[in-house]
Amino acid sequence: MPKVNRVESARKSPGKCSHCGEEIAVGSPYVWWQFRFRGKIVRCGKSACGPKPADLTSSEYQKAIYALHDNYKFEGATLDDLESDRDNAVSDLESLRDETQEKLDNMPESLQQGNSGTLLQERVDALESALSDLENVEFDELDDSSEEDQSEDAKKQRLEEHLEAKRDELRQALCNL
Ligand SMILES: [Zn+2]
Repeated sequence: MPKVNRVESARKSPGKCSHCGEEIAVGSPYVWWQFRFRGKIVRCGKSACGPKPADLTSSEYQKAIYALHDNYKFEGATLDDLESDRDNAVSDLESLRDETQEKLDNMPESLQQGNSGTLLQERVDALESALSDLENVEFDELDDSSEEDQSEDAKKQRLEEHLEAKRDELRQALCNL
């Protein structure tokens, strides 16, 4: 990852923020970073414009993984919400796995055996394993008919615990990516 340089007070304007497009004025704070062989990226001092991890990697794969983590926080309030998030995550992961596999298959055999081939194979394996964890999450309704305490509050709390356990399972599935 490139180093992020922070300037407390611009001596001359470094130009426009590449996120919000506002001109960065003399005297205001800004940050900048640079990938090898590419131009500087400049952002103003607003926290919304600060670099996100995805901004600091030039790897398309890493960007896709950051996007997955951003898009799938599994905060759904019902089992249905969580299940449809899961289904979307599965389809995103499947496309990423297929793209990665295709890159690997298109490599000359000598490279497949080398470091870049191994790296791609590791990614495919990690995606496969996340996929199977996601697919194994079951969205069973909470059956608490045998519970003695049937007060509304107790029911609500049991349901919330049930949901939280599902959210955890879903997040765990992505945490090795
Ligand atoms: Zn900005």
